Amino acid sequence: MSAAPALCGIVLHPAGHTLSPVLHRAAYAELGLDAHYHAFDVPLAKAADAVRGMRALGLRQLSVSLPLKQAMLELADEISEAARRIGAANTLTLADGRIRADNTDWLGVVRTLEPRGAWTGRRALVLGAGGAARAVVHALRELGMRVSVHNRTQERAERLARELGAEMARDGDDCDLLVNATPVGMHPRPEDSPWPAERLDPAAMVFDTVYRPLHTRLLREAGERGCAVQDGLEMLVHQAVEQVELWSGLRPSAAVLRRAALAVLERD
Ligand code: NAP
Repeated sequence: MSAAPALCGIVLHPAGHTLSPVLHRAAYAELGLDAHYHAFDVPLAKAADAVRGMRALGLRQLSVSLPLKQAMLELADEISEAARRIGAANTLTLADGRIRADNTDWLGVVRTLEPRGAWTGRRALVLGAGGAARAVVHALRELGMRVSVHNRTQERAERLARELGAEMARDGDDCDLLVNATPVGMHPRPEDSPWPAERLDPAAMVFDTVYRPLHTRLLREAGERGCAVQDGLEMLVHQAVEQVELWSGLRPSAAVLRRAALAVLERD
């Protein structure tokens, strides 16, 4: 008998619409990995049970999504430096009986932006102060950018700015990069936008981390004003590439994952 296939998956709640199974299964097929990937519906109150289950069943890797990203940090045996700074884990990997918490969302941001310009010393404005915004700000700081944060709840933005070396946004600030890290504009309210069109600077690039829909109102209005635009799929694809490499040591092709995700998004 050959060895049993590796078991992997994602924990989140509710478990409805995640693209992660599509991305990971495409990666395993490309790399010839004998592995299964399932979506597990895990409410916050069951986070510790899920980690015990991971250990008991020998699940090789779990991706982590809302609302568990913070709780999983506290339940892991080891935490990567990036996950600790960001304050959220999107990846749990089991090796030698120990569970390591990592964050690959920020690497997804770096891989998305790196090919699109030289960012060191330039200014970014980030909308939001949740888990995604924290990963974005960490990534932009690692790219050497000066970052301002704008959020509906001021205290949350102040905390993020203090902890990750950013500033609070002020009216009239200009920026080279605007990033939406809120859910505003996401399905089922694609008519919403997190930022007024008249305040978009045509010289700036606009990056929306929302990927459902892919072409958000923010990106449409930014494109109409002449801004360079970037949708959220690239970040999603690259965080998954990094996850697969973390447990398997093999690096899947971003193009393969992108194609698999687009096939689903285009049916939306
Ligand atoms: P989160 O931790 O719940 O944070 C949500 C943030 O958005 C908070 O700062 C919240 O402000 C703000 N917000 C929520 N609703 C708002 C509204 N109606 N008006 C203004 N601000 C609002 O969520 P998250 O994990 O950071 O995820 C945020 C979004 O990022 C997701 O919806 C997803 O589209 C995107 N994302 C993309 C990727 C990717 O790979 N592309 C990965 C992760 C997340 P308050 O602090 O005032 O509540």
